Amino acid sequence: MQRLLIRQCLESEGMRILEAQDGHEALDLVANNNPDFVFMDVDMPGISGIETCRHLRARVESEDTPILIVTGADDQETIDLGFEAGATHYITKPLNWPLLGRLVKYMLRSADTYKELKSKEDHLRYLAYFDHLTDLPNRRSFTEQLRRNLVNSEKNEGQTGLIMIDIDHFKRINDSIGHERGDLVLKKIASRLQTCAAEIGPIASEYPGAKKTYPLDAFALEIARPGGDEFSVIVRNPYGEEQLNQIAEHLIDCLSEPIQIPGHTLVITPSIGIAMAPDHGRAPEELLVRADSAAYAAKAEGRQRARMYDSSIAYDSAQELSIEEGLRHSLLTTGLSLVYQPQVDLFTGAIIGAEALVRWEDEQGNAISPDRFIPVAERSGLINELGDWILNRVNADAKAYAGQLPSKMSLAINLSPLQFNQSNFVERLTSTLKQLEIQYKIALELTESAIMNSGDDSIGKLHQLRNLGFKLAIDDFGTGYSSLNYLRQFPLNTLKIDRTFVNDLGSESGNAIVNAIVSMAQALGLDLVAEGVETAEQATYLRERGCYSIQGYLISKPVPIDELARLCQHDFRATVGLDSEDG
Ligand code: C2E
Ligand code: CA
Ligand code: CA
Repeated sequence: MQRLLIRQCLESEGMRILEAQDGHEALDLVANNNPDFVFMDVDMPGISGIETCRHLRARVESEDTPILIVTGADDQETIDLGFEAGATHYITKPLNWPLLGRLVKYMLRSADTYKELKSKEDHLRYLAYFDHLTDLPNRRSFTEQLRRNLVNSEKNEGQTGLIMIDIDHFKRINDSIGHERGDLVLKKIASRLQTCAAEIGPIASEYPGAKKTYPLDAFALEIARPGGDEFSVIVRNPYGEEQLNQIAEHLIDCLSEPIQIPGHTLVITPSIGIAMAPDHGRAPEELLVRADSAAYAAKAEGRQRARMYDSSIAYDSAQELSIEEGLRHSLLTTGLSLVYQPQVDLFTGAIIGAEALVRWEDEQGNAISPDRFIPVAERSGLINELGDWILNRVNADAKAYAGQLPSKMSLAINLSPLQFNQSNFVERLTSTLKQLEIQYKIALELTESAIMNSGDDSIGKLHQLRNLGFKLAIDDFGTGYSSLNYLRQFPLNTLKIDRTFVNDLGSESGNAIVNAIVSMAQALGLDLVAEGVETAEQATYLRERGCYSIQGYLISKPVPIDELARLCQHDFRATVGLDSEDG
């Protein structure tokens, strides 16, 4: 009778009612219908209302469903039990019919508000701890991850690896393709990192020795995006530095695969810094600073590489400023000079070209390697002035030695990617070279990544340069991302085989790489120059495989222009392993 009244009362408020005879049936009904509201008497046949309440609350789906219980008038004890079991509210018998409908409505409304609040809170938590572009944990979570891991590894006397990944030239990518597409690129990078980390897990746990020291599941990778174009990977319980290096290499490979976004195919490259606790620090801040400065060093060493922190790195960054100041000063005075390294034809033994290489002596008279100061010049923006200085110097040397070098000879100039990527680069180059009237061919040496990272207009620039009569060479070929499809698009003349590969000749893998490069060059119809050739055996091998010019200490170190002119008189056939009667 009472149920019928309740039904009528609530239906008149526009609610749909399901009725159960007892507690068991009530639980079934709830399970099948997920109602918005539960209303029950504590006195029920079978399991009690209190017990039913408890069961309901144990279900995830009815965790927040308002439950209204009906008790006897002065039954304090049951009311308390009801609340403990999870009831939301109670009313006592006899029921106040006019009030019941309103009470239920009020309870429903506050349940909605609660749900809304809760989802807002979830959202806030999400906003606070996740980066909404990539869905990766953000800087705040990253810091907490790192702190947690360091506490654990300290407790278990284990190690924690920190890998900081910085995307090379991301600002320029953003500037050239726009921020929206830049965001897309970041998203792709994030999902690639996740895939890659999933691949690394099983591989890394098979790392020899890993199981000896740690249980398998203790190894884990945690990825985050602490900021802009910066990503982090925390490696829980790495086996040691060597394993962290391997992981970093794997990450570089994954990330260097071309990225497709609508209208563009990009190749991005990462520079990676690694630090490991406790060896490089125990506090999160300390480890972070060290991994960051290792990433910085990786950039300085030419990008697209990983660098493990060591004590020399701290020293390097302290010196950076003094190098920059010294260099700036030398641009105005005389610390800079240019030397030339001859390139020889492996059939005629004649010098067919020379590469200009910059030299710098600081004010104390110390020779500083270009590998050292070029990156500083790039970071400080001095590279453009330095580049102009080099162009002018080549100009002056070529004019002064007009007629004294073989007329078909080419002079090669190294270009920093930063120079090439300037929007007015071609104008800047031609305005310097307009006054050149050089009788020799000028070859421009660029690295693969310089071309590939400079966006869609790089092909146009290269065509412009070709039309202006420049030769184009890819420097350090094989160390960057080499894809036939990419190279085919570029109007190139020459590939320069990196000296590390030449150095490896004689070993199976060294030979294989050089053979692969030779067939690639043949497929693309490009000339080859091998760098860093130091022995006649290397020269002979290269000639037999199909690489016909070389550069390296076997012929000569880089020398001043007057010395180069003298070397040009020389016949290098015997030097490169040919009988003088041959050829
Ligand atoms: P790179 O363009 O690959 O230059 C070749 C480097 O290999 C030169 O080092 C050269 O001295 C060295 N080398 C030549 N033959 C041999 C050999 O047989 N064995 C060995 N072990 N090394 C050899 P360098 O002059 O110290 O230049 C280092 C790098 O600095 C260059 O690498 C280039 O990336 C950069 N660089 C040098 N001059 C310039 C410049 O004028 N402009 C720009 N943008 N970069 C430059
Ligand atoms: Ca070069
Ligand atoms: Ca090179």
